[in-house]
Amino acid sequence: MGYLKGFMDFNRKDQDVRDPIERIKSWEEYVIRFSDQDLKEQSSRCMDCGTPFCHTGAEWDGAYVGCPVNNFIPEWNELVSEENWEEALRRLEETNNFPEFTGRVCPAPCEGSCTLAINDDPVTIKSIENEIIERGFDNNWVEAKVPENRTGQHVAVVGSGPAGLAAADQLNEMGHRVTIFERDDRPGGLLMYGIPNMKLDKETVDRRIDVMKKSGIEFTCNTEVGVDITREELNREYDAVIMCTGAQDPRDTPIENRDSQGIHFAMEYLTAATEALETDPKDTPITAEGKKCYRNWWR
Ligand SMILES: Cc1cc2nc3c(=O)[nH]c(=O)nc-3n(C[C@H](O)[C@H](O)[C@H](O)COP(=O)(O)OP(=O)(O)OC[C@H]3O[C@@H](n4cnc5c(N)ncnc54)[C@H](O)[C@@H]3O)c2cc1C
Ligand code: SF4
Repeated sequence: MGYLKGFMDFNRKDQDVRDPIERIKSWEEYVIRFSDQDLKEQSSRCMDCGTPFCHTGAEWDGAYVGCPVNNFIPEWNELVSEENWEEALRRLEETNNFPEFTGRVCPAPCEGSCTLAINDDPVTIKSIENEIIERGFDNNWVEAKVPENRTGQHVAVVGSGPAGLAAADQLNEMGHRVTIFERDDRPGGLLMYGIPNMKLDKETVDRRIDVMKKSGIEFTCNTEVGVDITREELNREYDAVIMCTGAQDPRDTPIENRDSQGIHFAMEYLTAATEALETDPKDTPITAEGKKCYRNWWR
């Protein structure tokens, strides 16, 4: 624990966001990075309590409390408060393959389990996590993980969402050769075509895919298993096959006026809108132009 009285001296501060009037002019991420001083203060609010729950990821009454990937949160909070960013990154990488994704879009159950939250606001764990990995990329500390020895085993991973990417990353690090099959034109699953740019810029996804390619992982896109290649072929050609195909079938809602015009499944809209950003944002079959969203529209 760096500064002992951080939790007494500093209030929680959330990251600033871009002004809504500015924000509606672009699809870029709207959260603004913390300053050095904010990071020092916010990380020093961690009490390094004797029994931390933030990193447990334990099931309790049917729900999970704490970080599902068991990040060593108090340890990297201390390293950040001491401005030892590279060591903080190494500690974070021990548990989390993709902190730049969780640091942006995770619902942060860690913060709900922070002991400080019993009588104060929790530590801004998620923002600190994101800053650790961003500084890692800024300083070229994020390296390709090329294994020293290969096992001779070749694994096929079907689906390149976060589950498939994490499985591939772990298996590759263990020395297995890994090929990912993805039916879409770009890897990432819902990271690429489900979560909008304003929360997770697609360059951030591509940046990680590049690191994975340099680590030796092969990506085969535009290939649907069951259509372009059969499961039997995979079984024959690979030592193991891992299915990480997600759950993208939408659940319909049989309510009155469901068949009215302009009601779409989220993924139909989001996929088309994300694809259109690559060419012309107006070039999308479903547009929300001119519509108003009244729920929390100012956030
Ligand atoms: C609109 C939306 C927004 C979300 N926002 C958030 C958020 O902000 N924060 C958060 O934590 N979670 C969010 N989620 C949930 C999160 O995205 C999912 O939990 C996560 O993506 C699941 O990862 P996955 O790898 O299992 O599946 P997916 O991300 O769905 O990836 C599965 C991949 O498998 C591919 N695939 C499927 N079948 C085949 C096949 N036969 N052959 C080849 N490839 C195949 C698919 O094309 C896809 O790329 C959101 C979900 C949705 C739908
Ligand atoms: S925000 Fe990060 S530390 Fe918190 S639960 Fe999610 S992955 Fe874990």
